[in-house]
Amino acid sequence: MRVLVQKFGGTSVSSAERRAQVAAKVSEAVREGYSPVVVVSAIGRSGDPYATDTFINLVNGITLESPKREMDLLMSCGEIISGVVLTSTLKNIGLDVVLLTGGQAGIITNDCYGDARIIRVEPKAILDHLSEGRVVVVTGFQGITEDGQVTTLGRGGSDTTASALGVALNAEAIDIYTDVEGIMTADPRIVEDARILDVVTYNEICHLAHQGAKVIHPRAVEIAMQRNIPIWIKCAFSDARGTLVTSIQPDMGAGTDITGDRTITGIAHTPNVTQIQVPTHDAPDMLQVDKQIFKGMALADISVDFISVQPESVLYTVPDDLAKKATKILENLGFKPTAVPGCAKVSIVGAGIAGVPGVMADMVEALSDAGVRILQSADSHTTIWVLVNKEDMVPAVQALHKKFLLSAC
Ligand code: ADP
Ligand code: MG
Repeated sequence: MRVLVQKFGGTSVSSAERRAQVAAKVSEAVREGYSPVVVVSAIGRSGDPYATDTFINLVNGITLESPKREMDLLMSCGEIISGVVLTSTLKNIGLDVVLLTGGQAGIITNDCYGDARIIRVEPKAILDHLSEGRVVVVTGFQGITEDGQVTTLGRGGSDTTASALGVALNAEAIDIYTDVEGIMTADPRIVEDARILDVVTYNEICHLAHQGAKVIHPRAVEIAMQRNIPIWIKCAFSDARGTLVTSIQPDMGAGTDITGDRTITGIAHTPNVTQIQVPTHDAPDMLQVDKQIFKGMALADISVDFISVQPESVLYTVPDDLAKKATKILENLGFKPTAVPGCAKVSIVGAGIAGVPGVMADMVEALSDAGVRILQSADSHTTIWVLVNKEDMVPAVQALHKKFLLSAC
């Protein structure tokens, strides 16, 4: 059996016309001899009637007091609706199809509601249907705990569903269909002349995705990488070739992008972050301070980023919506933090950055020429990050894209 996982994002199933295009991709896979497993996201994006955010707003958003188990039940509805709708579209073109929820498909998770991790997949139900010649549609973004509670997998969770199924079913490939023609050197909504990358390594896209390129969820890449299952990022509405995500290819021949790790793969951005500044110069026990701060955040499940520990102060960032919670915890610990909301993180990402002289100098030059002030910076062997004011985010991404010559020509 040649299993092919095909994942369709929210915009891909948002209208009858688009669902017809999706159905054509599925029937093409059947014609080519594949057994397709179709993973589907909730219909549309924020603001659309059946999008997950719309359901969340029915109960006035998620707050600290929200009952997590019930919120996950609510959030899992969007995929069930789109699953039923897409299944009926596929039936209408004559395919033998069955719809399974995450739980029915054997996706077992831990009980971290809202951001559950898949701990294993029990693929028997899917395999039984496939062996009887059925196309299996699986609702993305959700699973079930060992004791039968419905969980959701967090933002981008349908990508993770697709990868986990790809691994469990030993798929020939995982096709992630979305509304762009592949992975690009920057978000095409911000950089008009961003270029499609023909081939990227798991490594490269993982870094890019971790820094905010939401075209695929990083966890999905990590899962597929474990078994070396190729991922294709493709457009649901065109026949463009898309981007192949794979391990390093020794020689992909002329016309492809990869000759090992590129110096710079692309520019990524994450909006809506708050910088927390904690003065520590007058703390009574300097050695305990850093430990107290980060333990306080960890105990409250706040993931911190962009950490910079200095003798006089500790700086880090949190998502805007967690800033209040973070400052409250710090105040309770006796600190006097300052929160700087409305920041954005802009990163240049490339597995080949390490040891290449002048990348930071070029970055600073490009940003200062564009009038962008750097609030904080940090680097690793694959990424250089800068924190900027949110109104500087778009000019910063555009300036860096230009500086590092990532455009098409
Ligand atoms: P889906 O609903 O199909 O999962 P997403 O909105 O999660 O789609 O991801 C697709 C979006 O990712 C694109 O519309 C694009 O704006 C954005 N994006 C951000 N960075 C990149 C990038 N480097 N390459 C391609 N798309 C990107
Ligand atoms: Mg997505």
